[in-house]
Amino acid sequence: MSSISDQLIFVKSQISQASARVGRPNNSVQLIAVSKTHPASTVREAFVAGQKDFAENYVQEGTDKIVELDDLRKKIIWHFIGPVQSNKTRFIAESFDWVQSVDRFKIAQRLSDQRPKDMEDLNICLQVNISGEASKSGVPPEDALLTCLDIAELPNISLRGLMAIPEPGASLQSMKKFQKLFLDIQLHLKRHQFKNRFDTLSLGMSDDLERAIEAGSTMVRVGTAIFGPREPDVIEEDSEE
Ligand SMILES: *Cc1c(COP(=O)(O)O)cnc(C)c1O
Repeated sequence: MSSISDQLIFVKSQISQASARVGRPNNSVQLIAVSKTHPASTVREAFVAGQKDFAENYVQEGTDKIVELDDLRKKIIWHFIGPVQSNKTRFIAESFDWVQSVDRFKIAQRLSDQRPKDMEDLNICLQVNISGEASKSGVPPEDALLTCLDIAELPNISLRGLMAIPEPGASLQSMKKFQKLFLDIQLHLKRHQFKNRFDTLSLGMSDDLERAIEAGSTMVRVGTAIFGPREPDVIEEDSEE
């Protein structure tokens, strides 16, 4: 059986090979380890093997793990990547370093209001629904620019880029279309002299990592290929306010 350390080495080599193939520098893609459903002890094991960025999908599970790993709080960067319910934004704003799954202005506004002033700005990505599936969250691509311009004005948060969860088997072409949207918004923000780095295209998971890197992804979110298969996802039993 291969260890988490071996799996990390394997995924990193997949990333460098995919980058090399399309002429991208080796360090231009960041690996985010998706630790949802895996215990804090597993996160610690991955941390000891050199992994610094971890992502969680569920507020309660994520905040419990952050508390359990409090001794590593300054060394680990915690990303929230699950659906954000507006009655849970406070817990997220007080615990995480990144929220990649902001899918409407109202959520960004709440995170901005609730981010403690003594913490660094919360890094935000706007989630875009690129496959148009009704079941997926995210703004439609045609609304992304205006939503970004609104979010960019908010204090205590830093708009860093876009995130998407393509449908299984999504084509390279659909991913490149998403990249173009990202680059267009980036250019727009630059022209508006936006103060923050809008530098993150979060795209790619265990199964579509290579195509995502070809489409310019700067952050891949990998769970299964590092930690092995998960139990079927638990549904959070809570609702909007
Ligand atoms: C679970 C999850 C991942 C990781 O998926 P794997 O297929 O296990 O690599 C990535 N991104 C999001 C948003 C997820 O919910």
